Amino acid sequence: MEEIKKIGVFTSGGDAPGMNAAIRAVTRTGIRNGLEVFGIRRGYQGMIEGDIVKLEYSTVSGIIQQGGTILHTARCKEFMGVEGRQKAYNQLKKFKLDAVIVIGGDGSFTGATIMSKEHDIPFIGIPGTIDNDLYGTDYTIGYDTALNTVVCAVDKIRDTASSHDRIFFVEVMGKEAGFVALRSGIACGAEGILIPELKGQLARLKKLLAERARQNKSSIVLVAEGDDEGRAIDIATKTQKEFPKFDIRTTILGHIQRGGSPTAFDRVTASRFGVAAVDALLDDQKSIMIGLANNEIVHVPLNKTVKLHKEVNKELLEIADILI
Ligand code: ATP
Repeated sequence: MEEIKKIGVFTSGGDAPGMNAAIRAVTRTGIRNGLEVFGIRRGYQGMIEGDIVKLEYSTVSGIIQQGGTILHTARCKEFMGVEGRQKAYNQLKKFKLDAVIVIGGDGSFTGATIMSKEHDIPFIGIPGTIDNDLYGTDYTIGYDTALNTVVCAVDKIRDTASSHDRIFFVEVMGKEAGFVALRSGIACGAEGILIPELKGQLARLKKLLAERARQNKSSIVLVAEGDDEGRAIDIATKTQKEFPKFDIRTTILGHIQRGGSPTAFDRVTASRFGVAAVDALLDDQKSIMIGLANNEIVHVPLNKTVKLHKEVNKELLEIADILI
């Protein structure tokens, strides 16, 4: 592989708290190793348009505590086509970038995998998504902050739920996976957790809700937005029809789960990922994702992270089953 002198870094797909800490770590590790570091703004869209800026040590000062991403992010249809990727490659060559670090989720890594097959440009992935649904890493940047946001919100909802003896269905993010719902549900002491990975939970839950309602006890049920039973509002409507006497409410936490200052865990993990990503590039690695397994940094082939499905933690499933 040719000697690496200039690298690009960008954020892509949904934003996640902690992305800035990763950008900071990549920039500073690169500069410390004598590299020039460039930020590609607005994900693959900015790559296609050549929206590329030099990052200095000081550019990334004071951002570690900020949510969102200073490089902005985007979803880019044009990059899904061969011509779009050719345009993106031309821009990388114009700026003389020798390698790129992508911070994002499985869609972003799919794009990187395809592009690195078509063009001679090394990609390293850093997992950044609040969903934590990436194969090959125990944690993705933003997941811990999102969990804490959910816990904080649900604690507040519980105050009003218990005052009025209400049942609340609280919808959290997770289109195809229940990582956020499962872990935050345990942390909140939820009375029910509905996630795509657990089948037939609603029938069991209804029995429990009926029992609690008879005793005038409030209940909180966390629903992953991709649950097989439907969206929280639909589940609440169906339950209300079956139990007209229940006082049922729905809250969709939505985008507040994406925002906010990253937790210490996300900041440190993002910093570790950023340092490890530059180290990997300097070590002539390519097409890998930096991940965390049992609190150790690991390298996972990028194509594996997009092909293989990450299962929710079995121990947490058992804990939820015992404690609810
Ligand atoms: P999140 O998990 O937060 O949604 P993500 O990285 O999975 O993050 P996506 O919107 O799925 O977010 O993907 C981000 C971008 O990656 C897309 O807008 C597109 O530009 C690129 N991408 C996704 N899938 C492909 C693909 N099959 N081929 C080429 N590029 C892709």
